[in-house]
Amino acid sequence: MIFTPEHDAIRNTIAQFVDKEINPFADQWEEEGIFPAHELFKKMGDLGLLGIARPVEFGGMGLDYSYEVVFSEELGRIRAAGVGMAIGVQTDMATPALANHGSDQLRQEFLVPAIAGDMICSIAVSEPHAGSDVSAIKTTAVKDGDDYIINGTKMWITNSTQADFICLLVNTSDNGPHANKSLIVVPMNLPGISLSEKLNKLGMRSSDTAQIFFDDVRVPRRYLIGEEGAGFRYQMEQFQEERLYAAAGNLKMMEFVINDTIEYTRQRKAFGKSILDNQVVHFRLAELQTEIECLRALTYDAVEGYINGQDVTLKASMAKLKTGRLSREVTDSCLQYWGGMGFMWDSSVARAYRDGRLASIGGGADEVMLGIISKHMGIMPKRG
Ligand SMILES: Cc1cc2nc3c(=O)[nH]c(=O)nc-3n(C[C@H](O)[C@H](O)[C@H](O)COP(=O)(O)OP(=O)(O)OC[C@H]3O[C@@H](n4cnc5c(N)ncnc54)[C@H](O)[C@@H]3O)c2cc1C
Repeated sequence: MIFTPEHDAIRNTIAQFVDKEINPFADQWEEEGIFPAHELFKKMGDLGLLGIARPVEFGGMGLDYSYEVVFSEELGRIRAAGVGMAIGVQTDMATPALANHGSDQLRQEFLVPAIAGDMICSIAVSEPHAGSDVSAIKTTAVKDGDDYIINGTKMWITNSTQADFICLLVNTSDNGPHANKSLIVVPMNLPGISLSEKLNKLGMRSSDTAQIFFDDVRVPRRYLIGEEGAGFRYQMEQFQEERLYAAAGNLKMMEFVINDTIEYTRQRKAFGKSILDNQVVHFRLAELQTEIECLRALTYDAVEGYINGQDVTLKASMAKLKTGRLSREVTDSCLQYWGGMGFMWDSSVARAYRDGRLASIGGGADEVMLGIISKHMGIMPKRG
């Protein structure tokens, strides 16, 4: 991928924004278990950062996805990954299907304010009994005149305690599990919607996560995204951006962990020399940096295919898999070289260790990625 001065300009804008508007508050937001999404997203919306690759007519910048990947990569410098994840939910997880398949009226009503930072959104796919197996969700939307009536429960929904609307995956018919699903935009202030307490997580603590309950929630049928019954396909498409965002977003986070570790081990002495001066330590860091560079190349390659309109399911899944694996490897290896200091809750490496663990679970676990890759390789046994 070739980066231009325009890419550099976006990169610099984001770096400055993160250093001024996010990192000074990262510890506070981690402590509070939430960040002020409306306030922060509005500032980002004012700079045009929430719609880099979205159409100009809906308030976006109309740039190609290479600029979005620069955005996501640079957000990796946030010292509380939960905030970067929450931003990604808004830009690359909850809104791609709306942007690509929503009617103009729906996009005016929800995409425009999401890009402006006036509305916060969530993507609601997972349920208490169905995470990896998306086809097994049970939430239903039944037609009643001009409305749908929604019943069910969604689990682990990022941004949900602050969201103004969600992009909800539901079953709208009794057809087979890949043909019975639809995506519907649901405003969160409707009667019949309630939330659990904020969930107490191992990591990503600055991001709010909750369960959402739907009890006879009435939504106009015009809030359907695209065609009824196409929701499973739209969600699989939408996952591509989510996975590319996750891959790009973890690169800088891992590099910060390595840099922090270099700094710490350079000044920390044992047996008369810096920890860093042990070959086993600096060779390991060099190896991890090399692995990150390989992942960066794979991610950029997948993004290039995506920009050219190719189906990048295979490469995006490989990049997502490698991101999860490598996040764990980098944070675990680095934490080791910090010794007891790495085991302290407030050390930067411990936070990255906790936050980075999600990459192997959220947005499709490693094993789900391996399943997709196996299918593309033709080595997955047929079901049933
Ligand atoms: C902090 C956080 C934020 C999240 N945010 C959102 C959100 O905003 N919106 C949303 O919809 N969801 C969200 N999720 C849910 C997330 O996408 C799911 O947790 C994930 O898809 C895994 O589903 P599950 O937890 O139900 O695991 P399960 O499906 O119960 O699987 C458990 C484990 O089994 C293994 N496994 C699964 N399938 C296979 C297989 N075929 N072969 C071998 N092993 C397998 C995997 O190791 C997997 O981790 C979030 C989760 C967390 C923790």
